[in-house]
Amino acid sequence: MSRRYTRARIAPWRKRVQWLSTLCLLVIPFLRVGGESLLRLDAGSRTLFFFGASLRIEEFYLLLIVVLIFVFGFLFVTMLFGRVWCGWLCPQTTLADLADWFDSRLKKAGPAPVRAAARQILYAAVSALVACNMVWYFIEPREFFDRLFSGEIGTMAGISLLGTFLLVYFDLALVRRTFCKTVCPYGRIQLMTMERGTLTLEFDPDLKEKCLRCGACVRACPTGIDIRNGLQIECINCGRCLDACRDVMEPGGLGGLIHYTFGRTAPGEPRPVNRKALLMAGVILLLVSLLVAGVATRKEATLKVQRAANAQVRKLPDGSLVNFYIAYVENRGTSPAVFSLEVGQAPGESAQLIGPVRDLKVAANANRKVDLVLKLKPAPAAGRTMELRLVAGGKVVAVSPLPVAVE
Ligand code: SF4
Ligand code: SF4
Repeated sequence: MSRRYTRARIAPWRKRVQWLSTLCLLVIPFLRVGGESLLRLDAGSRTLFFFGASLRIEEFYLLLIVVLIFVFGFLFVTMLFGRVWCGWLCPQTTLADLADWFDSRLKKAGPAPVRAAARQILYAAVSALVACNMVWYFIEPREFFDRLFSGEIGTMAGISLLGTFLLVYFDLALVRRTFCKTVCPYGRIQLMTMERGTLTLEFDPDLKEKCLRCGACVRACPTGIDIRNGLQIECINCGRCLDACRDVMEPGGLGGLIHYTFGRTAPGEPRPVNRKALLMAGVILLLVSLLVAGVATRKEATLKVQRAANAQVRKLPDGSLVNFYIAYVENRGTSPAVFSLEVGQAPGESAQLIGPVRDLKVAANANRKVDLVLKLKPAPAAGRTMELRLVAGGKVVAVSPLPVAVE
């Protein structure tokens, strides 16, 4: 027999989860850790701020791990809890529920034109909030408002803001759950990842005879399906039919004919183990360990050097050789840092770096380009490679080879 849940109603719990997840989405851009956003992709510095770590686009492997954790985490939740994401957490469902709620509250609120206008104003207000919230994950809220009110929001941010506003407005006004039933690929993915032990909602076949055929479950369903026909791709696992059936059946002493179940089992048969989900949990643990190790061992700064394209090698009358370079110093820390550049030299050799190589101030998560000249005496043989060191606080934080050309 499948497990029977208590006769409590699902709706209050679903609403709490929806409020809480919406609140999290709205609040996260305002939270900071170590002086930086908790979660934000800064397009300007091409840096992902992720729970205290700042991962630059150059650290592609770390960003890839973060993306994989999200993807596998999503699949893991789907394998365990089926489409609970759709009915309980998905922002699209929350928006559709909100639009339904506006409609129901405005049903008798004044003349039809006033109701229609109020509805459009509410849709526009929600759309504006969602659009701003989305952009806050790229531009931190304080900077966003400064730029918005000074009219300097920028082309990309402006297009994103307007595009999101229009999409959400269109969704609230016209689309809502049609998206879930027709376009959203998640339902299809969920069907592929389903296991015997995945949480589903089912019309209990053992109690089929007790059905009053009242249709309350069908009327309650936001996607317009009949759960009595079995699992369907349109079902978003919201539990409204479960509540509706309990309302109908409880006066007769029955707890309802629709239940959540982690897989039906015959009497005495052990509960199915969701092996795919366990495997997925292992993969996620591995990825999280890799991310933690990667962040813990990552360099605070990087140094890259290339020969200056237009400058020729020069030989000076005193026998020294001059090479020209461009160095790129990258500060990966979350606070500004001061660096200096040093060159290693062999005994009996005089190596001199000319250029702004002392007190190099580099802002947090920023790059600085430095034009460098290396003067070597005596002129070395062909194929000589020296070592350029980036020093911060008396410690070498990065090293780069410095090939010397002789002609
Ligand atoms: S069948 Fe039930 S759980 Fe599925 S979408 Fe309809 S009301 Fe929600
Ligand atoms: S609400 Fe319950 S009793 Fe009524 S039709 Fe649906 S399953 Fe049958």
